[in-house]
Amino acid sequence: MNSVLYTGIQSLVTNDESLESGLLGEIKNAALIIENGHISWVGTSSAAPEADQSISLEGKSVLPGFVDSHAHLVFAGDRAAEFSARMNGESYSAGGIRTTVAATRAASDIELDENIARLATEMYRSGITTFETKSGYGLNLVDETRSLRLASQHTEDVTFLGAHVVPEEFSGRADDYVNLVCGEMLDSCAPYAKWIDVFCELGAFDYDQAKAILLAGIESNLQPRIHANQLSAGRGVELAVELDCASADHLSHLTDKDIDLLANSGTVATLLPGAEFSTRSPYPDASRLFAAGVTVALATDCNPGSSYTTSMPFCIALAVREMKFSVEQAIWSATMGGAKALRREDIGQIAVGKSADFVVLDAPSYQHLAYRPGVDLINQTVISGTSIYRSNK
Ligand SMILES: [Zn+2]
Repeated sequence: MNSVLYTGIQSLVTNDESLESGLLGEIKNAALIIENGHISWVGTSSAAPEADQSISLEGKSVLPGFVDSHAHLVFAGDRAAEFSARMNGESYSAGGIRTTVAATRAASDIELDENIARLATEMYRSGITTFETKSGYGLNLVDETRSLRLASQHTEDVTFLGAHVVPEEFSGRADDYVNLVCGEMLDSCAPYAKWIDVFCELGAFDYDQAKAILLAGIESNLQPRIHANQLSAGRGVELAVELDCASADHLSHLTDKDIDLLANSGTVATLLPGAEFSTRSPYPDASRLFAAGVTVALATDCNPGSSYTTSMPFCIALAVREMKFSVEQAIWSATMGGAKALRREDIGQIAVGKSADFVVLDAPSYQHLAYRPGVDLINQTVISGTSIYRSNK
C-alpha cells in the first residue's frame, strides 16, 4: 500500500502530550506520513523520511479532524419561523420539539436518510471527521427504531434518545412512557445503537425516571450519556457521575458541587455553545471547569430547534468569545475532548497509529479558527487518509 507524505505544514496540532509543546502538542514546519488510512510518522519537515508520494501543503496548517460528540440529525422539516419569533422576543417552548416529531413521523425513510446525508456533508465541509447522532424525534417504537437504523448507516456512534421528551399522546402519563422506553422500545432499538441518552430536566425526565432509563440501556449493553443541567441546576450531573456516563452535555447551570463531582469522575463535560446562541441564553463559564481539572468537549448539538448549525469552527469561536475558553482549550475540546466524550482512542490526535483523520486549514495556524469568525477556512477534510472534502478556492 502507498505511503503519502504531507509536507510544508506551517503549524501542526497533534494533541500529543508527550511532545511537551503546550496543550496542543504543536509542531511548526511539520510533516506527516499516512499509510493504510493511519498516521505512520509525525515530525518536522526537515526530518521527514521518504514516502511513495509527496504532497506539499504550502504553508497551510493541519489539525486533527473535529469530533462532534453531540448531534440530532434524524428529523424532517425545519423551524426557521420559530427561530425568528424567538429573536422577536417570544420565549423558547417545548412545543417546538412536537413540530419536529410530527414532521419526522410523516417523513419517508428516503427523506430522513437524505436529510442525514445532507447534514453529514455540511459537517465534513466544516472539518468534522467523526460525529455522533441521536434519535429522539420519533418517540414511538416504529419511528425511533427506523431513526436509529438510518443513523447507523452514517456513523458508528448512534444514540438511542427515546427519552427526549414525553410525546403528546402520553401527556400526563410520563411513567407509562418511561416503561415503554425501558421495555419494548429499547428492545427494538438497542441492536442499532451504541449509546443511550436521556434529557434529565424539569419538564422532561426527572432523576428517578432518567436513572431507570439509563440503567435499562446499560442492561441492554448500551453505554450511557446524558443531557444534564441545561435549563436548571438539577440532579443530572449527579446521575451522570453515579452511572459513569461517558459525557454529561449542556451543563449551562452548574453548582460548585457538580463541578467537583465531574472533576473526580471519568465523565466528560460537553458544552454546546450553539444552543445558548440560538436560544439567546446565558453562556456557561468554562473557566470554572478548566480550573477544577474537568475534561471538556465542544459539540454542535445540531438540531432543527435550538442549534441548527453543523459548523465546529463557529462553535469554537463562540466558546472562546462567550464561554471563556482559551483558543487552545477550544481546539483541544473540539478534537481530543470530543474523542474522549465518545470514549474513542483511535481519533482526536495526530500521532503514530491513530486514524488519519485531519483538517487542512487555509490559514497559517489554528488560532485563525477563532480569530476569523464566520470565515470558511476549511481547505480539505481527510478521513482515514482519504480526502472527502476539498474547497475549490
Ligand atoms: Zn441535544
